[in-house]
Amino acid sequence: MQIAELGKRASTGESILRSEALAVLATPDEEILDVVAAASKPRFAFFGNRVRVNFLVNLKSGLCPEDCFYCSQRLGSGADILKYSWLPVDEAVATAKAGIAAGAARVCLVASGTGPSNREVGKIADITRAIKTAHPDVEICACAGFLKDGQANSLAESGVDAYNHNLNTARSHYAQICTTHTYDDRVDTVGKARGSGLSPCSGFIAGMGETHEQLVDLAFDLRDLAADSIPVNFLLPFDGTPLKGTNQLTAHDCLRVLAMVRLVNPRSEVRIAAGRELHLRSMQSLGLHIANSIFLGDYLTSEGQPGQADLDMIADAGMVVDGMRPHRTDKAAELVTRRRGAGTTVRPNA
Ligand code: SF4
Repeated sequence: MQIAELGKRASTGESILRSEALAVLATPDEEILDVVAAASKPRFAFFGNRVRVNFLVNLKSGLCPEDCFYCSQRLGSGADILKYSWLPVDEAVATAKAGIAAGAARVCLVASGTGPSNREVGKIADITRAIKTAHPDVEICACAGFLKDGQANSLAESGVDAYNHNLNTARSHYAQICTTHTYDDRVDTVGKARGSGLSPCSGFIAGMGETHEQLVDLAFDLRDLAADSIPVNFLLPFDGTPLKGTNQLTAHDCLRVLAMVRLVNPRSEVRIAAGRELHLRSMQSLGLHIANSIFLGDYLTSEGQPGQADLDMIADAGMVVDGMRPHRTDKAAELVTRRRGAGTTVRPNA
């Protein structure tokens, strides 16, 4: 296999083959720059030098009755995280505005739990309308668990643009990371979102004991589900969860996974999500040559690097923030970190 040929082919919008995706994951470390170069072809062909910046607002944290083994908010989690039930609308809107001021083009409104009640869908709708009134061009992505019939329509009617529901791992590995729901339950919600006109956002958590074949299975399932945006999380092994102490990824592994996802899904937004700082470390900016999207600042239940460091990294890579608004000040990124406060933690989005 000529890795450069894969990049050329993907830059026409064509997915690589399954055997080629496996070969990308098996590439030796000394050829990592060839892998990055190949994956950069579709990245630049479809997204230029733009980086989409996303900002998480954790509306409801902890106390989830589901048992996802990776999640600090799961049933019985002993992780040291903030636990609270639904931020007031004005507080959620103020937090979102801080992220927008720092350059976020998409605000992700996230609530832990199995799925929202209709009243909770109404709260997300209220927050969405308030943000959109002030910032009509900003995209809103909701992430609140499994959707019941009609809820995706209600969200779409309120102005929500996208719905995040990660598949997280391959169907064949799902029972190893969760016992309270199934892979197909998750596929169902992604389908409901798409069926109501919401843009499907669905992705990975790599580093949970899965095989290369399972990573590739998931990349192709996300292609088949036409996920518009694919967050790639790298496991944060929280104390107090069953995956505590699991640390299977090198920075090179993370780059290979990102490249494989990009080459299978050349036109999708590929987002480097939680675990970027822990696993990629000084290689983060190489990841920007593959992915075209990141979260700014903190995650849901763990701290990211300061927002200004994210913006500096983008500039140092010779890239620009997608849709950066002219009123952004350098102080805005600091504000993001301060507003979220110490103790804000990052959960890979549910
Ligand atoms: S990932 Fe979502 S559904 Fe699973 S335990 Fe965490 S908050 Fe609950």
